[in-house]
Amino acid sequence: HVKQSGRNGHAFFTSTMQAGTRQRLRLLQDLRRAIVRNELLLHYQPKFPAGGSRANGAEALLRWNHPELGMLSPDVFIPIAERSGLIIPIGEWVLDAACAQLRAWHDAGNADWSMAVNLSPLQFASPTLVESVRGALQRHALDPRQLTLEVTESTAMKDVDASLQMLEALTAMGVRIAIDDFGTGYSSLLYLKRMPATELKIDRAFVRDLEHNAEDAAIVSSIIALGRSLQLQVVAEGVETEAQREFLGALGCDVLQGYHLGRPMAAAEFVSCNS
Ligand code: C2E
Ligand code: MG
Ligand code: MG
Ligand code: MG
Repeated sequence: HVKQSGRNGHAFFTSTMQAGTRQRLRLLQDLRRAIVRNELLLHYQPKFPAGGSRANGAEALLRWNHPELGMLSPDVFIPIAERSGLIIPIGEWVLDAACAQLRAWHDAGNADWSMAVNLSPLQFASPTLVESVRGALQRHALDPRQLTLEVTESTAMKDVDASLQMLEALTAMGVRIAIDDFGTGYSSLLYLKRMPATELKIDRAFVRDLEHNAEDAAIVSSIIALGRSLQLQVVAEGVETEAQREFLGALGCDVLQGYHLGRPMAAAEFVSCNS
């Protein structure tokens, strides 16, 4: 297509918009059937204690193996699931599948591994969340302390009073809470202090140029100091190079995650790479 101005430009814009809408509608229709058709799956990305060479857990990351479009990333379909409410049944499927996998790993001799599961804003606001977490833990006979729920900083700070209530109900059960993509939202330190979280995950935007950008290095080292004084574990995501790994270790980061240490992978591969 050639970009045109005036009437034609407008027509072109409208028709690409319609194509986008058609594609989203199609994905929405297909997504309604994705669970029963067994098209959803989880990949697992290892989390490493800084300085350690053995993973102590995994983050479950959702994938959709679409029959015609192939493997789709969550950035493509989670927003559609979120807007349509489908994220609620999908989120329950994710919790159950991740807990089933953790149970299988424990039974196979990796009893110290923990699992992290991501929650979207709608899930986090859902009155059914606490019961579905409790149900998944019970069905798979797991210690709640081995499950971490990741909510982004912007989700957690949206409706602070409701968030505090939800986080208290979840932590009362014993599950751990990570504040994901930390540094990109608008945290009030007052609320962060009151929040019963156990983990801060530094957004990978601050990790990318860490060794070359003094501002990023200052931000990362402040987040680590903040986490330490609030007794939160600090995790860095998006570690792609050995230099970043060393830098983060020297700054005192507790846990590292990223392509340099391990990509998200299928369950079988996760076991052979990390046991
Ligand atoms: P997130 O929770 O912040 O997950 C980290 C994302 O960064 C993942 O993308 C992961 O594959 C990617 N990543 C990990 N290491 C590196 C690295 O070294 N470099 C780069 N460039 N990227 C890295 P993914 O799997 O595409 O997931 C994207 C987002 O989708 C997640 O961000 C999370 O917010 C959401 N998501 C994934 N699975 C679920 C799920 O089961 N439920 C919900 N509600 N959201 C999910
Ligand atoms: Mg996450
Ligand atoms: Mg993140
Ligand atoms: Mg993210």
